[in-house]
Amino acid sequence: MSADGRSDRVQIARVIGIPIYLHFSWVILFALIVWTLSTGYFPAQDPDLPVSSHWAKGLVATLLFFVSILLHELGHAVAGHRHGLHTRSITLFMFGGVAQLDKDPKDGKAEFWTAAAGPAVSLVLAAFFYVAASLPIMSASGAAVGRYLALINLALALFNLVPAFPLDGGRLLRGALWGWLGKAQATRVASGAGTLFAFFLIFSGVFSLLGGNTFGGLWYILIGWFLKDAAAASFQQVRLDEVLRGVTVRDAMVEDVESMPGTGPVSEAARERFMRTGYGSYPVTRAGAVVGLLCLKDVLHLTPEERDATSVQGAMRPLSEALVIDPDVPLPVALTRMAGAGTPRLLVMEGQRLLGLLTLNGVIRRLKVREELAAGPR
Ligand SMILES: [Zn+2]
Repeated sequence: MSADGRSDRVQIARVIGIPIYLHFSWVILFALIVWTLSTGYFPAQDPDLPVSSHWAKGLVATLLFFVSILLHELGHAVAGHRHGLHTRSITLFMFGGVAQLDKDPKDGKAEFWTAAAGPAVSLVLAAFFYVAASLPIMSASGAAVGRYLALINLALALFNLVPAFPLDGGRLLRGALWGWLGKAQATRVASGAGTLFAFFLIFSGVFSLLGGNTFGGLWYILIGWFLKDAAAASFQQVRLDEVLRGVTVRDAMVEDVESMPGTGPVSEAARERFMRTGYGSYPVTRAGAVVGLLCLKDVLHLTPEERDATSVQGAMRPLSEALVIDPDVPLPVALTRMAGAGTPRLLVMEGQRLLGLLTLNGVIRRLKVREELAAGPR
């Protein structure tokens, strides 16, 4: 379990203030690389050496490969920092590494240089390992490991430089187009290229499979699939940002909300309110002041007997900081709050006064209408 509560990864280190995580899927990649190197690559390089030597080299080379990936991601982090981007974490997983930035770059320049730093680090590492492997004092085993690392870092740089968002090359492309086309259009082009490249990988994988290369084929398909989803998600995010730009809670909330007193039993509220109106929640008031929120979900948790025996006030979620949102807060911030609080509803309040309810369904309905109206006649 990691500090942020996600149980699918563990923190292994903290480098220049950035927590480094291992995702559980990383174990798969690690085992695969050690195995491929120790039983295929290194024996082919030097068939006369004992098996133990191949496994030792395989293990060392894989570890250094992961250090290389980490350095690549740290390259992004350091360059991002210079452009005002804070890196929240770096995670190593099945398809390599990912540096989680706290926000999107503010302009094309920041995007471009942050993206360029990773492959630049990999190229420097490739050169470094190539030179190290060529040193006369290097043992034969050391040279074999060095040559492999030079090769894999070069491959890492080249793969990442393919102009397919969200790969680094796609980010370079987006950064380059940003100033000219604007962020949304640049993302559209770069993630379009990403989708195209993803399908190319998937088709290559299928052909490899048909050609008898089961393992390589499956791997291409997996990476292609992952890229395809990532490209689509990046594009969706930008579209969402576009639709949400300038929208506040006030614009998206439901007004004239019906509230109810906290004194009656839940069964009565269920019958007289929820069933009659179909609403998903009611603010609960006492002497005119809001004291909490009763959601249909809370009612459904109770048995019929409990609904008779429990008062609305006893079943409601009491008024708390997490349940309340200011009307002038930007909508994306409110949506993040909702997700964080684990409730699809927030009370919109100005001081003690209830202005409305912000519900996830209401927001989605409004956004859909906004988008349809913005699209023009059809
Ligand atoms: Zn990168």
